[in-house]
Amino acid sequence: MRRRALFLFSALLLRAEGKRLRGKLMAGRKLMVGDKAVALMGDEAVAKVLDDERLIGAELEVEGATTGDGSFEIDGIHTKPVYTFIKGERLGVSYWCEICYIRTYSPGKCWCCQEDTKLDPKDPNTPDRKP
Ligand SMILES: [Zn+2]
Repeated sequence: MRRRALFLFSALLLRAEGKRLRGKLMAGRKLMVGDKAVALMGDEAVAKVLDDERLIGAELEVEGATTGDGSFEIDGIHTKPVYTFIKGERLGVSYWCEICYIRTYSPGKCWCCQEDTKLDPKDPNTPDRKP
C-alpha cells in the first residue's frame, strides 16, 4: 500500500518536472536530447508536426511533461507547444497558406482552398501579414 502511494507520488513528480525539452527531431517521433532518444507523444495534430519530413533533423523545443515511462507527452496543439530554432531565434512551428493568408499549427492542406500549406516558423508575437 505504502509502496504504491510512493510510486504514484514519484510519477506525479516526473510529470511536473521538465515542461520543455529541446533536441533534434528524428524520424519516428523521437527527440535526440544529448545522446538519448526520447519518445514523443501528442495529439493527432501534434503527431503530424512530428512526422513532417521538413522538420526531421531540425532542432526543436517542445512543451509538455515527462511521463512515468520516460517518454514526453507534448501539450495539445492549441497551446502551440512546438518551437524550432532558425539562426538562434526561437520560432513557433506553424504553417501558412499564401493564398488565403491563413495560419495553422499542423501540416497539410489549407482548410479553405485545399492547397498545401507552407512550413513557416514564426515569432508568436509578430502579427501575420494581411492580404
Ligand atoms: Zn488556402
